[in-house]
Amino acid sequence: MHQMTLAEIARGLADKKFSSEELTKVLLARITQLDPQLNSFISLTEDLAIEQAKAADARRANGESGALLGAPIAHKDLFCTQGIRTSCGSKMLDNFKAPYDATVVAKLAAAGAVTLGKTNMDEFAMGSANESSWYGAVKNPWNLEHVPGGSSGGSAAAVAARLLPAATATDTGGSIRQPAAFTNLTGLKPTYGRVSRWGMIAYASSLDQGGPLARTAEDCAILLQGMAGFDPNDSTSIDEPVPDYSASLGDSLQGLRIGVPKEYFSAGLDPRIAELIQNSIQQLQKLGAAIKEISLPNMQHAIPAYYVIAPAEASSNLSRFDGVRFGHRCENPENLIDLYKRSRGEGFGAEVQRRIMVGAYALSAGYYDAYYLKAQKIRRLVKNDFMAAFNEVDIILGPTTPNPAWKLGAKNSDPVAAYLEDVYTITANLAGLPGLSMPAGFVDGLPVGVQLLAPYFQEGRLLNVAHQYQLNTDWHTRTPTGF
Ligand code: GLN
Repeated sequence: MHQMTLAEIARGLADKKFSSEELTKVLLARITQLDPQLNSFISLTEDLAIEQAKAADARRANGESGALLGAPIAHKDLFCTQGIRTSCGSKMLDNFKAPYDATVVAKLAAAGAVTLGKTNMDEFAMGSANESSWYGAVKNPWNLEHVPGGSSGGSAAAVAARLLPAATATDTGGSIRQPAAFTNLTGLKPTYGRVSRWGMIAYASSLDQGGPLARTAEDCAILLQGMAGFDPNDSTSIDEPVPDYSASLGDSLQGLRIGVPKEYFSAGLDPRIAELIQNSIQQLQKLGAAIKEISLPNMQHAIPAYYVIAPAEASSNLSRFDGVRFGHRCENPENLIDLYKRSRGEGFGAEVQRRIMVGAYALSAGYYDAYYLKAQKIRRLVKNDFMAAFNEVDIILGPTTPNPAWKLGAKNSDPVAAYLEDVYTITANLAGLPGLSMPAGFVDGLPVGVQLLAPYFQEGRLLNVAHQYQLNTDWHTRTPTGF
């Protein structure tokens, strides 16, 4: 039962082969049995899950249908869930029970999805390895000595290990696509503004975007359908109609123009990954796509710009966690300054503190122009590169990451080494573009992802290309041994 995709579950429920309650119980038992190896969940919500599953079964019995009605999922632990701990992977919010549901959570619940729990993540979504969580590192089911990627590493490890078919995640600089690549999943970061950020605890507000993590493009289409849409509570949400993402999955790729940026194949890319990317290009050519070399000349400046903008926004967003308005409060403070210092010093981990300091520095009076303003100018150049490229091509293709998942602890002493691994993903966030990662093969038993980028609001095109690719390849069907 645990091998079923969301699409298969929807068919099974519609055909009355099993009930949502039965399936939910099977998956909850599987999580209890196997998750100790992975640490992919921070909280399990068994009672809520059974209650939602029973309600979904009753709705089906009353003649209702829907691809998500009775479908078990989990939420990254930065989506607010009413009455349920929403920790953001931090000691700071260990005892925070959100007073309301995030829009994404409410929409999926209304569609009948069943919440099995809240998944582990890098603290405040800062990281690429899921090692900065206060609840401990998450392990990669493909090799328990390796990281699953981050910051949505809990969602990724759980779905890859078949503990559940799909989960929500968020992507500020790659946190959906990179863990998807590291665990053999399909993950989609939508256009900025496509999915509401209301109730999604902010890391860097101008970059954050929620999206689906699943095994197939078909399942990403189903989950995105339930997440996307205008939300008046989010001032950056965009009032554009949501297309039927499943309807365009079957479109032919004949004549699709794919751009491959020459900058992607530079010295930093593992040659074995480069070869797998070439194979996926050939596969898409067989399906009728035309390949064109393009250039994204400002890509080299993207990492430094991102690692100024994201910490700057984080330093502002995280100021609310001061032990007074929100978050952990230290014992017996001597005075107000002591209260702030110790509450924040005890509540935040090292990586979060580092980013707050970098961000506050970049925003300070004497340095604002030199760092923050300059980074914003680079951001515009990165966007302009994409706009020029999309005059010539429909999709941009390349690797999701320069290397496969590294060993746990391997980059702990050198944060910049981890930042450099984000080179292919962060540009989409800087430009606000949609991006998808899908399985493209293995290196030393570890999964490799190919990334597709599209113009604004062309999520349907990304899902269509990925689905056609998956109809003709079987990488995405591989299951990690032991799961
Ligand atoms: N690795 C990037 C960072 O640490 C991206 C994280 C994310 O997308 N949330 O900022």
